[in-house]
Amino acid sequence: MNKCIFCEIVKGNAPSMKVYEDEFTLAFMDIAKDVDGHILVIPKVHCENILDCDCEALSKTMETVKKVSNHLTSECGYDGVDILNANGRAAGQTVPHFHMHIIPRQYKDGLGGAGEWPTFPGAKFDIET
Ligand code: AMP
Ligand code: ZN
Repeated sequence: MNKCIFCEIVKGNAPSMKVYEDEFTLAFMDIAKDVDGHILVIPKVHCENILDCDCEALSKTMETVKKVSNHLTSECGYDGVDILNANGRAAGQTVPHFHMHIIPRQYKDGLGGAGEWPTFPGAKFDIET
């Protein structure tokens, strides 16, 4: 079985630029170079995504997402954050260790309003059906 790259980062066997760490979670810079300030937050315990993640790991991860987001907006001059997350390959997940993306945002940063949302083709049914 292939090693999980994010577990290897947690163990210190793979490099990362850490932003925040506590007993349960780790926040580090995404290497995608797709947008400045792109941060990932993960639970230290391995789970694939929200579907198999236990609720404690999930809530600890969200606590860290909030902590890092608050720091970005109160200390680093950002106006907001996008919080993104994919669960399962069909949903666009490429690394099978649960992670939340934080994208720091500023007014007029040119990234658009909802740049990473999929294109919705329009519902086929009324919500009552
Ligand atoms: P997703 O497509 O939602 O599963 O996101 C996976 C993210 O992990 C991508 O944005 C990758 O750039 C990022 N990534 C993959 N390997 C590493 C790594 N070794 N260090 C930091 N980020 C990584
Ligand atoms: Zn893992």
